[in-house]
Amino acid sequence: MNIIKVHPQGFCKGVINAILKTNEAITNAKRPIYMLGDIVHNKNIAKTYIDNGIIIINSLDEIKSKEGSIIITAHGISQYKYNLISSTGLDIIDTTCESVKQIQSLIRQKIIEGYSVVYYGKKNHAECLGISEDYQNEGKFIVVEGEDDIEKLNISNPKLFFTNQTTMSYFETLKIIDKLKQKYPNIITKEDICNATKNRQLALIEQAKDADLIVVVGDKTSNNSLSLVDISKTIINKPCVLIENINDIKEALKEINKQRYENIAITSGASTPRVIVNNIEKALLDENHIIDIKKDEYIKIKR
Ligand code: SF4
Repeated sequence: MNIIKVHPQGFCKGVINAILKTNEAITNAKRPIYMLGDIVHNKNIAKTYIDNGIIIINSLDEIKSKEGSIIITAHGISQYKYNLISSTGLDIIDTTCESVKQIQSLIRQKIIEGYSVVYYGKKNHAECLGISEDYQNEGKFIVVEGEDDIEKLNISNPKLFFTNQTTMSYFETLKIIDKLKQKYPNIITKEDICNATKNRQLALIEQAKDADLIVVVGDKTSNNSLSLVDISKTIINKPCVLIENINDIKEALKEINKQRYENIAITSGASTPRVIVNNIEKALLDENHIIDIKKDEYIKIKR
């Protein structure tokens, strides 16, 4: 079996920033330390932080202390939620990725200027909620999840602006822009896939074209991992499996052996620890050679 390891891989700058700030919080922040949602979409990382005493909550109602700290994750939060958090008296540790902050502030600016904003993203994703929660029922921020949603749009505002969630498929985003321009020729569009996501997608297309199978290592809740799967199947037109961790490897190997795949490209989402990718690569070559990953390895930043 020949492994084609796609580059770049590993944590993006936003994930590195979030992990470094959270690691520092473990040592220095006032306890209890709450985290609103998962710091990044990777269960191994989340579990490591839980084991280090961080309390992951999904709603602010779960805060039981008037003292302590709260971590805002890399996906950011709405202004509405930020104000609520500020009123709790907890110290705020904000790990929002700069790319997310830039899109948030651009959207807010466009809405102030009178635009309706069409946003390509996933309605229930934390990054999307970080904006939509501020504009509920106002009709100024409209989320489309795919081309079908564009057909249902009925926007009367002549000032229209488009942008997107940072981790969508670059190619799907271009299709959405095309379709929107057919329906609303005056729409101003700004494709805003973050560099880390776009580079990983373009690299996959370039480097995996000769593969028989593409393995994406990433969490099932990680949008940039799912975008890599989507691109593998639709743009590169190859079979693809998403492997979250070493437990999934047996199923994948069954399929690989059945189909006799020889050239296997391996890539990973921007929140997938490198140790997991290395482990899976080793397991693909030899099922019996699997490293025992120590939990702290998941949150170790190697420069
Ligand atoms: S994937 Fe992009 S937006 Fe998300 S944390 Fe990384 S750099 Fe930031």
